[in-house]
Formats: sequence, C-alpha cells, structure tokens
Amino acid sequence: MTGTVYKSTGSWYTVKTNTGGRYQCRIKGRFRLKGIKSTNPIAVGDVVDFELETKNDETTGIIHNIHERKNYIVRKSVNLSKQTHVIAANIDQVFLLVTIDNPPTFTSFIDRFLVTAEAYGIKTILLFNKIDTYSEATLDEVRYLAHVYRDIGYECVGISAETGTKIETVKQLMAGKVNMFAGHSGVGKSTLANALEPGLELKTKSISAQHQQGQHTTTFAEMFDLGFGAKLIDTPGIKGFGIVDMDKEEVGDYFPEFFKLKQDCKFNNCIHVDEPKCAVKQALDNDEIAYSRYRSYLQILEGEDEHYRTDNWE
Ligand code: GDP
Ligand code: ZN
Repeated sequence: MTGTVYKSTGSWYTVKTNTGGRYQCRIKGRFRLKGIKSTNPIAVGDVVDFELETKNDETTGIIHNIHERKNYIVRKSVNLSKQTHVIAANIDQVFLLVTIDNPPTFTSFIDRFLVTAEAYGIKTILLFNKIDTYSEATLDEVRYLAHVYRDIGYECVGISAETGTKIETVKQLMAGKVNMFAGHSGVGKSTLANALEPGLELKTKSISAQHQQGQHTTTFAEMFDLGFGAKLIDTPGIKGFGIVDMDKEEVGDYFPEFFKLKQDCKFNNCIHVDEPKCAVKQALDNDEIAYSRYRSYLQILEGEDEHYRTDNWE
C-alpha cells in the first residue's frame, strides 16, 4: 500500500491512502533514508510504501520504502551539532502572510524568506493580511509592495482573514495542493486557517502558550485535509524557513530578477557588489530593480556566517 504521512510522533506515523484509509505505521527495522542526515527519517508529507500487519486483532502498518522527495524543509539544531530535523516534505506552496503594521513585516524578512523558499524549490505566494485595518496611506504601501513582488513573479493578494475579503481567492489558490502558512506571530495565520476551515486550531498558538509557561514540549508538524480539497501542513511555530547554507555566488540565483540579468554581467561569477559592468547594478541605477531588494541581498551576503541564526524561528 502507498500513502502520505499526515502526522508523526517520533516512532508512530499516521499514514493516509488515496482511498482515505488511515493507518498507524512504524518503520521497518533500522531503515534509514539514504543521503539525508536528519534526526527523523520520515516527515509529514512523505509518500511511503507500507504493509499491514495484524497482531492481537490490531492492524498496523510497517513502512518499508519512502518515495523520493520533491522538496523538504529542515530545522537545524541550535547547538551546531549539524543535526537537522526534517519538518515537512513535498510542499507545493507556502503562503507568506505579511502585515504592514501590527506586527510590522519588513522587506528584509520577506526577502530572506523568499531566498530560502527559492533554495528549497518551494513556490511562495504573498498574502497581505489585515487590509480591513489599513489607512489609505498604508494601503498605498501594500500596493507598492505587491507591485514590487508581482513584477518579479510572486503572486500577491490583499486579504482580510477577519472580514473574509479574498478568502475565496485563497481557497482557489490552495485547492488540490499541499500548502503551508508562514509569517510573523500575530499576522493572522490561525485566523486565516479558521476562516478557511472553521474549527481548525493551528499549533502556533499552543506553542507560544507553552513557551510562556516555560515548558519545552516537542510538537510535530501535522497535515490536514481541508473541506474544499486542499491540504494544509501545520508546523509548530514556524515563522520563516531559517536560512539554508549557500555560497556567496549562489545567493543572487535566488533573487529571480537578479538571476535573469546574471548572464549580462561581465564576470560570470559576479556577485553584483563591486564588479565592473555588472548588469544587476546597472538595473538598480535604472530603477529596474527595487532598492529594498538589493539592500536585502547585501544583508544576506553579509550575514553569510550566520546560517545558524535562530531569529527566523519562533
Ligand atoms: P498568528 O499568530 O499568525 O496565528 O495570528 P492570529 O491569527 O492569532 O492573529 C493575531 C491577531 O490579529 C488576532 O487578534 C486576530 O483576530 C487579528 N487578525 C488576524 N487577521 C486579521 C484581519 O484580517 N483583520 C483584523 N482586523 N484583525 C486580524
Ligand atoms: Zn553582476
């Protein structure tokens, strides 16, 4: 049988088949996934093959194979032991919720997020939430940012999770796909989830509550089937993706508007900083590239040795 992992508790995996069967599965023996050094061999979103086993009238599954992942996101351990934890796999798209204020989301955060999502090979859609609360001047800011990001290929939607504005559009974008929500605490991830599927409680909330109580309960990602035919992976307290390891020369490849111009730079290993005849700097001078994007790019280059920063995580 083949199914998708919906939940994991470390040793048990909830696997759902295409026909809707739900099974509790374990991993066969010392099965380990080749090439991936992580504390967990299987993550939510993985497609696995398993066999059923009945003991004492109880039927469980034994996973014996994992299908190749389209992509996966990891959390690096803070103690530099280089151990990684795979949070989720096979994600079709992430919705990054952005608010202009309450809380503010800075372009540096958006751009850092986008670079990492590009590196992971995950599509991002920007949702500018709380538009019901904005003044005309703030709405202008939303329009400006939406223009900047649409121009370089990211879909942008202005929504209100509270009043329901454009929630139907979000549903259409999500349908038939494996989705995730990200964004600062307080941007409206739980409110949006509830607007889409009344009664759905995201874990973001319970995590911060636990933190306040000083408890360190480990929670795991979980996948939900939403009523309108979308899957949502809920991850405990995910705000961003952290920053993945990348070389200086690589960063520009994850800025789509820089990548397009790279072939026109004089040097093929141009990092668009001090090199002569750089097409990216030329485009910046011509106002064809948003200055905020270039500034974020420089910040990421400078923060090269900060791969293990944890401030992108809650
Ligand atoms: P999360 O931390 O990202 O899950 O954010 P929440 O969903 O908990 O939202 C934080 C606060 O913002 C709550 O008080 C929500 O009621 C409020 N909120 C969320 N979305 C909207 C919105 O579109 N409009 C307004 N006015 N408030 C919102
Ligand atoms: Zn260049």
